[in-house]
Order: sequence, then C-alpha cells, then structure tokens
Amino acid sequence: MTINVTKAYLPPLAEYSAYLEGIWERGWLTNNGPLVQQLEMELSNHLDGSLVQFTGNGTVALQVAIKALDLSGEIITTPFSYVATTTAILWENCTPIFVDIEDHMFCIDAEKIEAAITPRTTGILATHVYGYPCDVLAIEEIARRHNLKVIYDGAHAFGVRVHGRSLLSYGDLSTCSFHATKLFHTVEGGAIVMNDAELARKVGLYKSFGHVGDEYFTLGINGKNSEFHAAMGLCNLPRIPEFIAARRELSAAYKSGLSGITLQFPESTDESLEYNHAYFPVIFESEEQMFRVKDGLASNEINTRRYFFPSLNKLPYHIGADCPISEDISQRVLCLPFYQQLAHEDVRRICQLIRELLA
Ligand SMILES: *Cc1c(COP(=O)(O)O)cnc(C)c1O
Repeated sequence: MTINVTKAYLPPLAEYSAYLEGIWERGWLTNNGPLVQQLEMELSNHLDGSLVQFTGNGTVALQVAIKALDLSGEIITTPFSYVATTTAILWENCTPIFVDIEDHMFCIDAEKIEAAITPRTTGILATHVYGYPCDVLAIEEIARRHNLKVIYDGAHAFGVRVHGRSLLSYGDLSTCSFHATKLFHTVEGGAIVMNDAELARKVGLYKSFGHVGDEYFTLGINGKNSEFHAAMGLCNLPRIPEFIAARRELSAAYKSGLSGITLQFPESTDESLEYNHAYFPVIFESEEQMFRVKDGLASNEINTRRYFFPSLNKLPYHIGADCPISEDISQRVLCLPFYQQLAHEDVRRICQLIRELLA
C-alpha cells in the first residue's frame, strides 16, 4: 500500500450524515447558513475569542485580507512558503519584496525586515512555517514604528499557542487554510482570523460580493464557503487535541528512528511554544542526498514532498532579490509522510530505509 505524505482524516460517516440530514431538512446549502455560523463560533472559541470568517480556501483568504487592509505598492514577504503566499500579493497588484529567512525555524528573518522597507511599503505578509511562529513580537514592533499592516499566513498554524496566546491572534489578521492536506480540514476551506470587529465586518462583506441583500456597499468577491464544508469542520474540530497528541508521538518516533544521522530539523527554543506538529520536514546535507532519499522511498511506494520548493524568489514568472538561505534550504528539504493515522511501524520502516539509502 502506497504511503502518501499526508492523508485526510475522515470522520465516521454517520456523524457527517447527521449534519447532512439537517441540510436536507432546511434546504439551506450555502450563503452564511447555520452550520457556517456555528463553525465560525466554535472556531472563535477555539482561538481565544478572535473573530473568524470562514472562507472558500486559504488563497482567497489571503486575497481578501490584502484587499480588506487596503495594501498597495510593496509588501514585504517570505520566499519560503507555499506559492499562494506570493501569488496572492501579485494577484492583488502589489509587489512582493522578499526578505530571507532565519535558519532555525525557516520563518522570515525579522532582523532583515527594516532594511527592505521603502516609502512604497504598506505591509508585511509572513508565514508561520510548518506551524513554527515568526518572531511576532519583533515584527509587531517594526510594523508599529513604520506604520505597516501585518498579515500572517497561518495555513500551518492552527492549534499553535505562543506567549500564552493563540498564534493566529497576532498581527492585524491571520489567514488559515483548511484544505484536505492540513491538520484541521473542511475538505476545501480557509479562514480569516482577527480581533477588530470593524475589520471583521469588512472581511465579511468583501468575501460575499460586497452586498447584503439589496444594499451594495463595496467591491467584493465570492470567497465564502458552504454548509457541506462547515459540516466537515464541525466533525473534525473536537478531534484536534487528539490529532496533535498522535502527531507528537509520531514526531518523537521519527526523531529517535533517525538519530545519529546528520540531518537538520526545524527547532524552536521558545519555552512558551505549544506546537501543533503540523509537518515532519527533514533537511539533508545536500540536494543530492535529498534526491537519493526521495527517489529511494518512492521506489518503495513511499511519497515525500519537496515542501517548500522552489524558493519563491525564483518563480519563473516573478524573479525577486536573492535569498541565499531560503534557496539553500528549499533545495535540501523533504517533508516525510506525516498524519495522525500513520502507523508507528511504518515510521520505523521509513527511518530504516533512509538509513540504508544514506549509508
Ligand atoms: C495550503 C497553503 C496555502 C493555500 O491554501 P488553500 O486552502 O490550498 O488555498 C497558503 N499558504 C500556505 C503556507 C499553505 O500551506
């Protein structure tokens, strides 16, 4: 049986069907239905009371976020993320200005941000890579000094807490992805998380064509989500602590299975961090080693993912300034199979194969 790099959790069918029966009774399928409202409320409770707008996916969440914060000109961003982080900026007719990453957690290097600020800079869009937090306190300070808005791409950050708060509560807002491959999923889906009620109202309008009934307020787009997706979220949300606990154990199993081999793992020294174990990335000594392991595992029907590759300052349709650390890490990183249902026996087998391939 092929082992994939992620595997979406599916709740017991009867549990999902119970929600479907309600949808059938009401005949209310989308447009801010009761399940969407319930999910937004439960997410808000889960996220320290932050305001939550459920969206169609994590990419439209980024686009609506950039629009709602009125960003224009240059946005300082990270080259080490999924492509949607950069393309959302380009799609909104802004210019991404890449600032290289630090080499422990691979998030944007806050110390290098100020040198990239120009009179055209309006915001910072940074990713909490693999669920490890950006230096949110330093970034907050820089943004305040230069009057910039801060968006966090929190697609990996669901369930993480730092300095006693939900990681998604930092910045002007955070976006999430609830895609089937993510820790918490609604099949397709995403969210914008924020603490300002006026901003939440604006986001709600922007994601829903900019009108309420016959009253037209502003430009908008279709960024909302349906009752069917909300139902999947309502089934999965109560299981998040259980998912994270299972992943913590799998992560420990990988680390002990790979001990003694020269590999780098992302690491935080922040004692306040409550991590979500969203991914299991490994950084090899060279790109050659990475390919040897990737290809060797593939021939054993074990799939891995170059995540993130390429470094986003090297996209063929938008070349940015050099970012040597991001370019280097993206060439050597591989995400190993990682999902809560993965068997410990499979982790042992994968580690053994990696040992043999590198020997
Ligand atoms: C998954 C992901 C996205 C995109 O989210 P979708 O829901 O697939 O649109 C954006 N940024 C990061 C960092 C992601 O991992």
